[in-house]
Amino acid sequence: MPSLAESPSPPVVVVIGTGGTIAGAALRADDHVGYRSGAIAADALVAAVPALAAHAIEAETLARLDSCDVDPAIWLALRVRCSAALARPEVAGVVITHGTDTLEETAYFLHRTLAAPKPVVLTAAMRPATALSADGPQNLLDAVTLAEAAGVRGVLVAMGGQVYAGADLRKVHGWRVDAFSAGDAGVVGALADGKLRRYRSWPDAPLHPAAAVLPDAAAWPAVDIVTSHAGARAEVISALVQAGARGLVIAGTGNGTVHHTLLAAARKAQVAGVVVRRASRCQLGGVVGAPATALPSAGELTPPQARIELLLDLMAAEAAAAAR
Ligand code: ASP
Repeated sequence: MPSLAESPSPPVVVVIGTGGTIAGAALRADDHVGYRSGAIAADALVAAVPALAAHAIEAETLARLDSCDVDPAIWLALRVRCSAALARPEVAGVVITHGTDTLEETAYFLHRTLAAPKPVVLTAAMRPATALSADGPQNLLDAVTLAEAAGVRGVLVAMGGQVYAGADLRKVHGWRVDAFSAGDAGVVGALADGKLRRYRSWPDAPLHPAAAVLPDAAAWPAVDIVTSHAGARAEVISALVQAGARGLVIAGTGNGTVHHTLLAAARKAQVAGVVVRRASRCQLGGVVGAPATALPSAGELTPPQARIELLLDLMAAEAAAAAR
């Protein structure tokens, strides 16, 4: 039997706080919507969960944002912090606390650009930390449990007792506690009573080639999302092209149909060198089948995912051209 001095130290989980409702504070406990995002630092979030006292956690606050304000600089900083933490042998995994509004975008970006042989688990909350029945503490405990579990890898999201692949997550409700879906792919697993139940394999997609050549945030190309709808106006696209858009994702109707005025403007943009992709504004299903228009399909990616993929494609192409 090892003496106390010899007993192995528990694996470390690094918790990185970025803000969001999970760190939000309202003036009244019954106020679920009128709060300030990111008011509470990461170490205080950890300290508020008694069950985490026995865990080896290092908490750091990277940002205190409402996640509607997340930008490339935050993504790059997060990626650097995660890589540094994962490289430490004593670290079992990383937990990122985040706002729910752009959780799926940060999760998708990290999924495509961060080597995660150990778990990187994003978590969030729909109710502020000051709420009568806040969901953040249990979500944080679940995320740490997942980050410590043996054999877990990839970018994952722990919310409401479910484990999502970062690549499949989408927010489907504006204020309900049960606000997320994994689309047709379904969740990867569940966490109940501190135990992990796995339903399918951990996410394992190869990284995007741009992961090796990501420039500083200031050098990222402008890529915008335009939604097609009844009575859509071509001027939206021409204004974006004039303002320097290098890529456009059209969130089309249904299975990727695009209003004829937008379609004409998008074709003009293509001729001017702008890369255009066509996704669906429907929350589930994406775009399947043969293209009904000359605009390439983004397949099953949601518009925000398609935007990140296009950003990465443009940055990879730019780096390849510079290397020639
Ligand atoms: N606006 C908040 C955020 O995304 C919403 C949340 O976290 O639930 O930061």
